Amino acid sequence: MAAKASDTTRTKFLLDEKDIPSKWYNIQADLKTPAPPVLHPGTGQPIGPQDLAPLFPMELIKQEVSQTRWIEIPDEVRDILKLWRPSPLFRARRLEKALGTPARIYYKYEGVSPAGSHKPNTAVAQAYYNKKEKVTRLSTETGAGQWGSALALASQLFGLQCKVYMVKVSYQQKPYRRIMMETWGAQVVASPSPDTQAGKKILEQDPNSPGSLGIAISEAVEDAATRDDTKYSLGSVLNHVLMHQTVIGLEAKKQLEKADDEADVVIGCAGGGSNFAGLSFPFAADKLTKKKKTRIIAVEPTACPSLTKGKYTYDFGDTVGMTPLVKMHTLGHGFVPAPLHAGGLRYHGMAPLVCKLYDEGVIEAVAVPQLATFQAALQFARTEGIIPAPESAHAIKVAIDEALRCKKSGKREAILFNLSGHGHFDLGAYEAFLAGKLQDYEYPAAKIEEALRGVPKVKV
Ligand SMILES: *Cc1c(COP(=O)(O)O)cnc(C)c1O
Repeated sequence: MAAKASDTTRTKFLLDEKDIPSKWYNIQADLKTPAPPVLHPGTGQPIGPQDLAPLFPMELIKQEVSQTRWIEIPDEVRDILKLWRPSPLFRARRLEKALGTPARIYYKYEGVSPAGSHKPNTAVAQAYYNKKEKVTRLSTETGAGQWGSALALASQLFGLQCKVYMVKVSYQQKPYRRIMMETWGAQVVASPSPDTQAGKKILEQDPNSPGSLGIAISEAVEDAATRDDTKYSLGSVLNHVLMHQTVIGLEAKKQLEKADDEADVVIGCAGGGSNFAGLSFPFAADKLTKKKKTRIIAVEPTACPSLTKGKYTYDFGDTVGMTPLVKMHTLGHGFVPAPLHAGGLRYHGMAPLVCKLYDEGVIEAVAVPQLATFQAALQFARTEGIIPAPESAHAIKVAIDEALRCKKSGKREAILFNLSGHGHFDLGAYEAFLAGKLQDYEYPAAKIEEALRGVPKVKV
């Protein structure tokens, strides 16, 4: 068990701007066996850098496959990160007291970024490398709008144009994220849109299509693939995205040192896996290279349980079946998740690097239901003050469960979780919960099996 924190009153552990990490941590260097290759959807053969060149700048393609443990963060990127980094580490003293736990609970708060989540950490890096390689315009998709707003901000800061294909239901029901993106200068269209062939085709079949993340991805990819000035940007799942987020965990380690403490349990919610990886990979490094015993837990919703109920196999990254095939825990690319309020956790797959660590037993995973998650969010808001994003509340729920386990056993463990964002644009979900209108979604095993039948058969 870790050393006991000596400071008995401190609530925030802060770092100086000079403590912003100067390098990203690349966990690919420390894996027991190399990550499985990404395959071409047509040939089934491993893809090369040239296959990705129409969509991504070369530096990001290199980072995607790099085996170098530490990769320098460019000064231009660190300069912008200074707008919100280092982010604070809080000791949740009031929550601990309310729970009556002997455990120490810490949370790393990423809601201090202008977009209100961890996503700008990678958006800034991606915009930078595109700018450096003379790209003038970025395209992307967004569901609820968290990723779109992060990329809109980063594009503006580097003088790039940004086009966001926003899933039509969200575009209509959640105008505030759209207005944020427009305030930062992005062009936002409801997807399916008449601006792409993919969008036109769907609108012909169904003019009232509500859209989906899969359709929006198809549109954004087509936009980038058919224009010389434009590249595509993705907010999670990919190796380089996860790596850009490791500034979170690297800072948290320094902050725990300041607290004279060491994490026994590290927790993050996992949609595509980026905020979870960002906090936990620097801790996983110590498990892989120094035989540390830290428990690392990824939390997903029972309505979209890719790690805990999915199959570890090759599948498409999108719903339409256009992207390369990646080996991951998947519910099947045809899986349509329930209308869960944690929009960021509704992806059918999971970052391949997170899946690899899960497969190797380096990390654990647990699925939690929606109502209990909102109950945890409320308890957190009423003790610690911050109203969490529904996604982040999944991590809170498990942090509370772990603290209650410590209460039962009398163990004085240190629990660290990632508070990936605030919930200021999710108050509709809180309203529904407070009015008793939210429900739990358990995904029937038969439905998962059905979606898994659509997974392509690949022999490697
Ligand atoms: C997008 C988002 C997530 C889920 O994405 P990951 O890539 O799994 O981190 C979680 N929390 C917040 C606040 C988000 O905006």
